[in-house]
Formats: sequence, C-alpha cells, structure tokens
Amino acid sequence: MKKIAIIGGGISGLSAAYTLEKARLAGSLLEYRLFEASPRLGGVLLTEHVEGCVVEAGPDSFLTEKSWAVDFCREIGLGDQLITSNDSKRKTYIYLQGQLIPIPDGLAFMVPTKIWPIALSPLFSLNTKMRMAREWFSPSAQNGEHAGEPNDESVADFITRHYGREMVDRLADPLLSGVYGGSASQLSVQAVLPRFVEMEAKFGSLGKGMIAARKKPAGISARPVFTSLRGGMQQMADAVAEKIPLSSLRTNTLIDSLHSEGGQWTISTNGESERFDAVILAVPAHAAACLVQTLSSDLAEKLREIPYSSSVTVAMGFDQTRLASLPTGFGFLVPRSEGKHIMAVTFVHQKFSGRAPANMGLLRCFLSDTHNDQLLALNEDAIKKIVREELRQILGLDAEPLFTRIFKWKNAMAQYTVGYARRMEKIQRLAAQLPSFALAGNAYYGIGIPDCIRSGQNAAQQVLTALSR
Ligand SMILES: Cc1cc2nc3c(=O)[nH]c(=O)nc-3n(C[C@H](O)[C@H](O)[C@H](O)COP(=O)(O)OP(=O)(O)OC[C@H]3O[C@@H](n4cnc5c(N)ncnc54)[C@H](O)[C@@H]3O)c2cc1C
Repeated sequence: MKKIAIIGGGISGLSAAYTLEKARLAGSLLEYRLFEASPRLGGVLLTEHVEGCVVEAGPDSFLTEKSWAVDFCREIGLGDQLITSNDSKRKTYIYLQGQLIPIPDGLAFMVPTKIWPIALSPLFSLNTKMRMAREWFSPSAQNGEHAGEPNDESVADFITRHYGREMVDRLADPLLSGVYGGSASQLSVQAVLPRFVEMEAKFGSLGKGMIAARKKPAGISARPVFTSLRGGMQQMADAVAEKIPLSSLRTNTLIDSLHSEGGQWTISTNGESERFDAVILAVPAHAAACLVQTLSSDLAEKLREIPYSSSVTVAMGFDQTRLASLPTGFGFLVPRSEGKHIMAVTFVHQKFSGRAPANMGLLRCFLSDTHNDQLLALNEDAIKKIVREELRQILGLDAEPLFTRIFKWKNAMAQYTVGYARRMEKIQRLAAQLPSFALAGNAYYGIGIPDCIRSGQNAAQQVLTALSR
C-alpha cells in the first residue's frame, strides 16, 4: 500500500485528491491524506449567502473555453448546477476621465478586428486609432526584428510595439489587472498572451492573426464566456470533498516541515510526524518554498522568485431601485491613471442570473495591493469608506448598501512575470530531482480555476506514475 500526502486544500489540492480517489476506486493500492491549514477546504473558493444574494469572496466564475473545468464539474456531480454568463448583456466599460466608456465591439481582448466601432469609440485618441490601422501592415516577424526572439518581454512592451502606450494604459493593463491583480509592465507576454506571441511570429500583425484564427473552422461555438455554479464557486470544493473519504481529510493542519530520506517522506505538523511514499505540494509558491528549503535550497529560491499580489473584494447589496442608473453590462475596469483604489467592479446580478433577489442588485469591487501597497493593512471601515466614495464618483451611487462583505486575500495571486518560462523550466528540473514529488497550484501552469484543476490532476498522475516504477 503506497501512501501519498497532498498539502493544501484549495482547488488544486482537491482535484489532485479526487484523481487519487478515482485511482483508488479503480483498484490502485494506495492511501492518501490531504492536509489543509485552515478549518475549511476550497482555499480562495469561498461563497457566502447573504440576504438571498450569492456573494463570492474569491473567484466568481471560470472561462468556459477551458472546457476541462466544466468536465470536472460534471464528473463530480455538478452538471445540473452549471450556469453561464448572460452574454446578451455582455458589455464592459472603462472608466476614463469621469465617464464609463464601453469597450467597443470588434476588439478581441485588445486586438482590433473591426474598423467602424473602434474608429467611432471615444476610448482611444486619433493617434492610437492610426496606430491600429498601421499595425495591420506590420511585417511578419519571421523576417523581422523579433524573428526567433528568445527573450521574453512584458505585456506592456509587446502591446506598445503594436498599438502604442495608450492601448496599454486604457485597455491591456486594466484587463490584466482584473485577472492577475498585477501590472502589464511586469507580466510576461509569453506566459500571459502566448497566442499573441504566436500570431506576431506568423503574421506580424495581431489583427491579421486574429482574423485568420476566426476563419479556421475549428468548431468554435458561440458559447458564453464565463461559467459558474448556481450556488457559488464553493459548491465545487464541497462536491469534491464529499467524494473523498473523511479519513483522508485533515483540516486545521498546517504542515510545518517536510523531510525526505531513502525515498520516504516525513511530514510534520506541530511536532507530530507521519511517513509517506509521495508528496504533492498544492500550496502557494511562497509556502512551498518554506517547506522545501531544507530539501533543495535552489528550488526554494526559484519558488520564492514568484511574486504574488494581494487583493480585497468588496461585495455590496443594494435595493434595486437605487441602481436604476447602472448601465447594462457586466461591469467596468479602472485604468491606473485614474488614481482610484478600485480596479474593477462586477455588476453581479447582471452578469449571472439568480445571484440576487429580484428587488436587489449586487456589486462586487476588486482592489489590489498593486494600486495601494497599504491596502491589506486598512480596516474594514476604511475600505468600505473608500469603496463607497469611489462608487459615488464613478456611478453617482450615493445609496447606503443593504449589506457589505469584505474579504482580504493575502499573497493569493501568482504573478507570471517576465522570465516565467525560464523560471518554470528550472523549477520543473529541480522538482524532478525530489523523489515521488509534484507541485500543483496557481503559480505554475495558469492562474485560473481550470488551470489549477488540471495542475492538481497532472500532479496526481505524476506521483502515481513515479510510484508505479
Ligand atoms: C480574489 C480572487 C479572485 C479570483 N477570481 C477568479 C475567477 O473569477 N476565475 C478564475 O478562474 N480564477 C480566479 N482567481 C484565481 C483562482 O481562484 C486561484 O488561482 C485558484 O483558486 C487557486 O487555487 P489553489 O488551490 O492553487 O490555491 P489556494 O486556493 O490558495 O489554496 C491553497 C491552500 O493551501 C493551504 N496551505 C498553505 N500552506 C499550507 C501548509 N503549510 N499546510 C497546509 N495547508 C497549507 C491554504 O490554507 C490554502 O487553502 C481568483 C483569485 C482570487 C484571489
């Protein structure tokens, strides 16, 4: 009987546990335990039900396009709980100089694919619009300056080369800040926008690349962009936990040291130790670095190099009549240059049906320490005051919310900064030197929930393969 330890009970660790459970049910002779420091499972997947509203503390949905998350939900029995975003109302605004300006039609992420809506949009200056037109004639990188370019660069530099700085400030940075809580000037284009890098190499122009991609009969359906769960994202963690025998789950258990000797692992918590044949580390990279320090200081150093951002989400429920002036759409983004704390606001009741009772509306604001490094030190009253003031300035919303819930997430979002690929290659090489060991989590193979699910599944497969040798 082989014994496997999973450290970390977020969605990465849970999906690893579920994969091991399937192997066990299929006849593999194995036993596993999942150790989670906090009293609950799910990590940043946390949902509260407040006055009939579904309040997401962390993620509110995942990308439908990465279909393995939907497949995973179906497999754990949540097929009838899947809901999709109201894409007929999909419109996102950029707050610019006192106005909410819709992101024009015909922009695929930040690549222009239609002329008129963009030409008529007040979001960009004439200068940027001219650059967009000129971008169409960019020479193919196969012959050009960036041919065979081995070096990574920031998203900001990459987008500036194509469309100029204004596109970065008004669109690329706000869009990516909403996903990573980070900054376009730090994020690696190879890690974050790999398709754009490929398009540049092949077509020169991103616009041409995007049009060519759309012409391919790749069976691209007009599926809604976001998928979520009727009762909230925590349903996913709860459903996995139900599939795992209670005897395999250890919450309230912070693992404080990890040793390996003669192919055997010893993990310790509060002076108590247990031996295992394999270990899956599904904790944030900074926590993984502490645990592997004595095993491989080189690996620990590389893991520590992965920066994380901290964020705060603020959910506010309002009487629907107070939100009459809210524009149609999913919400808005705030460029850094506007000098606000709020980076993004989701109009939750418009993005998904069933998130609030008919007489209520739910707004969710996202703030990150990349806009204010003292953010997490602020108390709830101070955060609420800032958010209410900024909602007043941006939306003219003076009403007292019926409820406010504030959630702080310290060092929870990994940043895929420039040099990511090289760093990952070293991490993988160093991790492979440890016996029957695997890493999972949002620092390695993508930050979104689908990627974390897959990283957990792959980590479980990796240790199963190692143990079967
Ligand atoms: C505010 C916010 C909004 C987001 N929105 C979205 C979204 O809408 N869509 C999307 O796809 N993604 C979103 N993400 C990203 C995504 O939710 C996360 O990347 C993913 O859930 C991370 O899962 P994880 O299991 O890797 O890590 P975590 O959820 O961080 O779990 C790690 C777990 O390890 C435990 N742990 C740490 N150290 C130890 C130790 N020594 N011993 C035992 N346990 C330990 C922690 O307590 C924690 O529970 C969001 C993230 C945040 C923070």
